[in-house]
Amino acid sequence: MSKRLVVAIDGPAGAGKSTLARRIADKLGILYIDSGAMYRAIGLWALRSGISLEDAQRLEQLAQQAHIELLPQGGRVLLNGEDVTEAIRTPEVSEAASKASAVPGVRRAMVEQQRRMAREASVVMEGRDIGTVVFPDADVKIYLDADAAERARRRMAEAEARGGRPDALQMQREIDERDARDRSRSTAPLMQAPDAVYLDSTGLSISEVEQEVLRIIRERTSNGKELQA
Ligand code: C5P
Repeated sequence: MSKRLVVAIDGPAGAGKSTLARRIADKLGILYIDSGAMYRAIGLWALRSGISLEDAQRLEQLAQQAHIELLPQGGRVLLNGEDVTEAIRTPEVSEAASKASAVPGVRRAMVEQQRRMAREASVVMEGRDIGTVVFPDADVKIYLDADAAERARRRMAEAEARGGRPDALQMQREIDERDARDRSRSTAPLMQAPDAVYLDSTGLSISEVEQEVLRIIRERTSNGKELQA
């Protein structure tokens, strides 16, 4: 691929962004970046250090000091050298990440790192503000959605696969609260970029969604050169 390609995938929790982004990155042989894992790492560190999730100043300091590595092999996540891949997937960390990510200084630190990670490489990056803030000039922007019940069901299946025994109602409530917080924050709220393609994955298999996104990418790129949208 001659020109650097940036694919941005945004959407609410449980829409299937991570699975989709990983598969697209594999297919195209480019880097996959899970930006949510970075906010989760900050949330985890704040919980462990007893920092209040209301304390914007300390959260910002923590975000500036955090050394976060996303290893391409196996999608491992390192925080200050420690493997926190499993530790960042608990409901407590989901909530802490969502709260910490509303702090403008935390976002500034993460966005800077995200742009640095993609400076020279072609990437598929997924999150909440990739097409709106991190890469407003991304070659391809997808807003991936699914209805609320389906999203909660997927998150339940993921938690069960990790050996958890989640409660369906509680899971639904957590996702609703997190999405509401992510949509209503003043800095970089979750929303569809005007030039993003809206895809509803409810009732679609992951392969169907993948095929559609690959088709959109092909349509917008040609021999690595961007076509007029
Ligand atoms: O994607 P994931 O559910 O792992 O993200 C965890 C939390 O991190 C989200 O609920 C959101 O608050 C925050 N986040 C964000 N911006 C991103 C990615 C994640 O604010 N680009």
